[in-house]
Amino acid sequence: MNIVLVGGGHAHLKCLTHIKKDTNLSNHTIMLISPDRYQYYSGMFSGFTEGIYSLDEIRIDLKKLSEEAGVVFVEEKVTGVSSASKTLTTANGDNISFDIVSFDIGSFMDAPKDFEKWLVPLKPNHLFPETIEAYRKQDYPVVIGGGASGAEIALAISAWRKKNGYPMNVLLITSSKLLPSSSKKAGAVLKRIALQKGVRVIEDDRLEELNDTHCKTEKGESFPHSNVLWLTGPKSSPIFRSSALLHDGDGFLLVKDSLQVPGFPFMFGAGDCISLKEYPHLPKNGVYAVKQGDVLIKNIFRVVQEEDCHSFIPQQNYLSLISSGNNEALLQYGNFSTHGKFYWKIKNMIDKRFIKRHK
Ligand SMILES: Cc1cc2nc3c(=O)[nH]c(=O)nc-3n(C[C@H](O)[C@H](O)[C@H](O)COP(=O)(O)OP(=O)(O)OC[C@H]3O[C@@H](n4cnc5c(N)ncnc54)[C@H](O)[C@@H]3O)c2cc1C
Repeated sequence: MNIVLVGGGHAHLKCLTHIKKDTNLSNHTIMLISPDRYQYYSGMFSGFTEGIYSLDEIRIDLKKLSEEAGVVFVEEKVTGVSSASKTLTTANGDNISFDIVSFDIGSFMDAPKDFEKWLVPLKPNHLFPETIEAYRKQDYPVVIGGGASGAEIALAISAWRKKNGYPMNVLLITSSKLLPSSSKKAGAVLKRIALQKGVRVIEDDRLEELNDTHCKTEKGESFPHSNVLWLTGPKSSPIFRSSALLHDGDGFLLVKDSLQVPGFPFMFGAGDCISLKEYPHLPKNGVYAVKQGDVLIKNIFRVVQEEDCHSFIPQQNYLSLISSGNNEALLQYGNFSTHGKFYWKIKNMIDKRFIKRHK
């Protein structure tokens, strides 16, 4: 059978480690397709931004990992899918056929089209390192979005600027309070820390206008900018809509809790790029993507062996560690939150272990 994994996201990394250990899979051809040889680990983006980690420390060599697992690595971007002919189309115009396909291609930035000219491209995630290295030196860094990723990156840029003698003028604009999906206390703590660390935080306001030099908010405040980092949450890849695959209202691939597309048992999906029918409001983050990886690979082989698939059941609470710069982090578990250097050490240990597992 031809099993094709599209994208080297968190869930597919998990699949590769399972495939590497499982010696019974050698009579199947397994392929991993990714537009870049490396997968950059978003859990360490803030540490890279701040200058704590080198490029090599935050990336996984997908080609090497694939080859060690007996998987064929193809450096390509998938642009279309036909469920009828079971083929994928790539950006170079190649057709790749499959018996079973799985998508773990992440998500994009949900920014208005009108602002495109002034946006700093961070996704797909292989664009992140080069982009952020240039951006953290800009005259007027502006981050849009006060969720975990926006806050982390604003604080990391600010920490890097302090260490490297750049002006402490990072601006974070968010339409809600900081950390809107967390407890009020966690958001308030992070805001206090951001202010202490020299990040200007504008809450309950949204970016309304952008021109070459200035950005203006709905409430009428105007600030200089050197292009903006848009981190307001995930947008779907256009592939699923354009290929007429089942998708939710926002274009994310619709899957059941077995991670299969309803009515298409040979099509799977995991990570940010999917919408789970049974859990439509499940947050899109690396934690769930990794957890889905375990179920995904087992279900792919259950389909090969014509067995029934198992369900992915998301855990209700999970440990969240948001780096706040200078080797400090905010730990959250459910409604509990606490901040300090010790929690950054835990984050550092978990993240380094993740990378080591895939090296
Ligand atoms: C700045 C930042 C910090 C974050 N920090 C954290 C954190 O600390 N913890 C956490 O849990 N989450 C974090 N997140 C969220 C996290 O990055 C995503 O939820 C997570 O990466 C989703 O994983 P994934 O497996 O869906 O895809 P990704 O990890 O995004 O990987 C998708 C892969 O698919 C490839 N791909 C894309 N399009 C195609 C295509 N057409 N063909 C083939 N391959 C393709 C991409 O190049 C990429 O390698 C952060 C996000 C950002 C932006």
